[in-house]
Amino acid sequence: MHKRKAHKAPLLKLWAHRPPVWPMQGPIASLSLSLSNWAALLEPECQTGIPSDWGVELNSRSRRRKNPPRRRMASDSSPPAEEASAQAPGDKLAVFWHEGMLAHDAGRGVFDSGRDPGFLDVLDQHPENADRVRNMVSILRRGPVAPFLSWHSGLPAHASELLSFHSPEYIEELVQLNATGAKKLCEGTFLNPGSWGAALLAAGTTLSAAKHILDGRGNLAYALVRPPGHHAQPGRADGYCFLNNAGLAVHLALDSGRPKVAVVDIDVHYGNGTAEGFYRTDNVLTISLHMRHGSWGPSHPQSGSVDEIGEGKGLGYNLNIPLPNGSGDAGYEYAMNELVVPAIDKFQPQFLVFVVGQDSSAFDPNGRQCLTMEGYRKIGQIMRGVANRHSNGQILIVQEGGYHITYSAYCLHATLEGVLDLEAPLLDDPIAYYPEDERYTMKIVDMIKNSWKECVPFLKDI
Ligand SMILES: [Zn+2]
Repeated sequence: MHKRKAHKAPLLKLWAHRPPVWPMQGPIASLSLSLSNWAALLEPECQTGIPSDWGVELNSRSRRRKNPPRRRMASDSSPPAEEASAQAPGDKLAVFWHEGMLAHDAGRGVFDSGRDPGFLDVLDQHPENADRVRNMVSILRRGPVAPFLSWHSGLPAHASELLSFHSPEYIEELVQLNATGAKKLCEGTFLNPGSWGAALLAAGTTLSAAKHILDGRGNLAYALVRPPGHHAQPGRADGYCFLNNAGLAVHLALDSGRPKVAVVDIDVHYGNGTAEGFYRTDNVLTISLHMRHGSWGPSHPQSGSVDEIGEGKGLGYNLNIPLPNGSGDAGYEYAMNELVVPAIDKFQPQFLVFVVGQDSSAFDPNGRQCLTMEGYRKIGQIMRGVANRHSNGQILIVQEGGYHITYSAYCLHATLEGVLDLEAPLLDDPIAYYPEDERYTMKIVDMIKNSWKECVPFLKDI
């Protein structure tokens, strides 16, 4: 059991109501992307070298077929992590989990809407469902990465811990709403019986994982949590999210004496909640790679453009990297190496939060970015390299989206292989085959880099 430091705020009056569970429905993203929309991402004064032939690039996509390395598949007889842990070499990656998070049930409907039109025999399970996480747990327990992991139980967050990121009014509102029964908080986001308890566990489990690192008990920790958190804003729920798990961990790191923290978010959606929480601060660098997914209602206007770079003393410390649909492994690797790595090298954080979502994968119902296991593995390796240079190899990984029940688990496995910096892939990719359009993505990345050089003071010479 870990005793965490209580932050600021007094206990909330309404905390006596013990949280239960809820289902939600989520954003059906508008997934179309036009070249004119891309041009609009940049403020006129920040536009630099926008290629005039984007249309040509779009029409001449590489049809390269992926040839994932063929390696031996995981053996069904792989031992559970607990039993195998003594054999694992090097630094174990500590997985923090609690099965109470399965109690959140967002229900069924037309995709994430919660609506039943009356003419469908089979309604979708909400994309943010317990099954997706059951597979993440099982692949880590029985997949080939298992010997490199250790398992730790999460805890529900205390009320006072939530107030480092969220307003007291918002938390009281959630507690009251939970006490009065199931309801839809915003598009795709449902507070049902069991949801609030799961949300507290997600927040507390993430804090436990952060504390594991901050207390010096290990360098690598992964908070395997749901419901996700990066859309949750200081004062409102949004996009399947109620509490901003990663944002809470950032505050814990700052309060524990780490002067500067960097957040890298590769979920396919913009980490708008996290960005808002730190938009006016210069000691937290938030970086989000995402697609331009559109608004899903009043809680989530379209945002995440290149020109949203922070305000006041936070100017330059929120970096958005909206990538074209289909960017794929090569496009993401280029964006990581050309944008994310130089920015972090300049910022020099002492703590690193890696926010992962497998909805950037090629088969996700909610995303169109076409990453495969190979890409996730590479991103994990790049993040490990950054951590080795700046945070003594320490990385807190926080789970967000990822809605393909099978492939999300595989991509998670690959990501952790990358973070562990293993020499060769442990697990074959069972389904990757989509072609990529990295040349177009590379042009966009180069544009964003030029924009940063002009508009972000601390990145003038990257
Ligand atoms: Zn997402």
